[in-house]
Amino acid sequence: GGNRYLIREIQRIAKTLFILESGTPGSHYLNVIPMKITFFSTQSYDKTFFESHNKDFGFEIDFFEVALTEQTVNLAAGAQAVCVFVNDRVNAAVLEKLAALGVIIIALRCAGFNNVDLAAAAKRGLPVVRVPAYSPHAVAEHAVAMMLTLNRKTHKAYNRIREQNFSLAGLLGFDLFGKTVAVIGTGNIGQVFCRIMLGFGCRVLAYDVVEQDALKQAGVTYLPLDDVLPQADVLSLHCPLNEHTKYLVNDKTLGRMKPGAMLINTSRGGLIDTQSVILALKSGHLGALGVDVYEQEESLFFRDLSDHIVTDDVIMRLISFPNVLITAHQGFFTQEALTQIAQVTLGNLKAFTEGKPLTNAVRFIS
Ligand code: NAD
Repeated sequence: GGNRYLIREIQRIAKTLFILESGTPGSHYLNVIPMKITFFSTQSYDKTFFESHNKDFGFEIDFFEVALTEQTVNLAAGAQAVCVFVNDRVNAAVLEKLAALGVIIIALRCAGFNNVDLAAAAKRGLPVVRVPAYSPHAVAEHAVAMMLTLNRKTHKAYNRIREQNFSLAGLLGFDLFGKTVAVIGTGNIGQVFCRIMLGFGCRVLAYDVVEQDALKQAGVTYLPLDDVLPQADVLSLHCPLNEHTKYLVNDKTLGRMKPGAMLINTSRGGLIDTQSVILALKSGHLGALGVDVYEQEESLFFRDLSDHIVTDDVIMRLISFPNVLITAHQGFFTQEALTQIAQVTLGNLKAFTEGKPLTNAVRFIS
């Protein structure tokens, strides 16, 4: 309730400012002086998709490649909005600085918001908007791709054939048909993943704090986490990272898993205690691991470090396992998802400038 009030209040103040500056009501603000957005962690594809869709919106956009941190926050000077991605640091210190610079809204161009201190944002009266449901197919299909690659070892076959090695030794997989696939978190992405797995003829078990009737009707069985773990041949994580889910995969939960099971994580690195997973891989208890996210990905992912010495021994250990597949947070990376991310993000900011309800605001619940 308090947060809603704060958002309304900041919108009212922002609107008044726009009227003062432009002499026209807030709804015409865009036509008079375009709101300025500072982008952090910009990649070439962000620029391509956002510039193209901004033709319909007319915002002024400054693109910066650096991530948002305490050191780079001043780049937002003169902007009313900042647009950030998964590894930008939106902590209390950064939010305080942003507010002082005159920023009045934070736009996440992603679904997850674990990198934002929501309490601090609410305290500063800064609404936080996100893209709650861009193509859930992008991430769900990537999870399936990782599963199939680890199972049928197509990545190894590709390299092998290029060296004229036509042997099948070491490429043995298993039929997914009839296997038990467990899904933790059946929201936008988890639901799609469940349906794909049902299509493969798998038995699909799920654990979530909220159960979806439509999925039950489709053939998914909800069970408590403790009952799901020992039955799963494949376990795929699709829940958000929060205080309840941090290190959901740890020594204890790994111990309850079926020997030789496969673990897929396309959600957030912090869902997994990586040290425990490494031990389980070393002992052979965990049969295969596919991760699109990594707890310490912030200093690695989205960069070409091929000429550098990587000092993170944990990821280097993970990379060294033959039954581990790592992708660098590319689940979202499809044409459809990038289109929706650009449209929804710019739409969120447009709604804000027009004083409309922020349907994609992340609510702070104290
Ligand atoms: P969502 O909010 O639609 O669904 C999350 C589901 O998790 C909900 O059903 C919720 O009830 C459930 N959940 C919450 N707490 C739980 C708990 N303690 N135990 C079990 N279930 C719990 O989110 P989504 O759009 O499906 O996205 C899921 C996650 O995927 C996001 O939080 C994000 O971290 C990640 N993601 C990754 C990429 C990528 O590129 N790899 C892209 C988008 C999203």
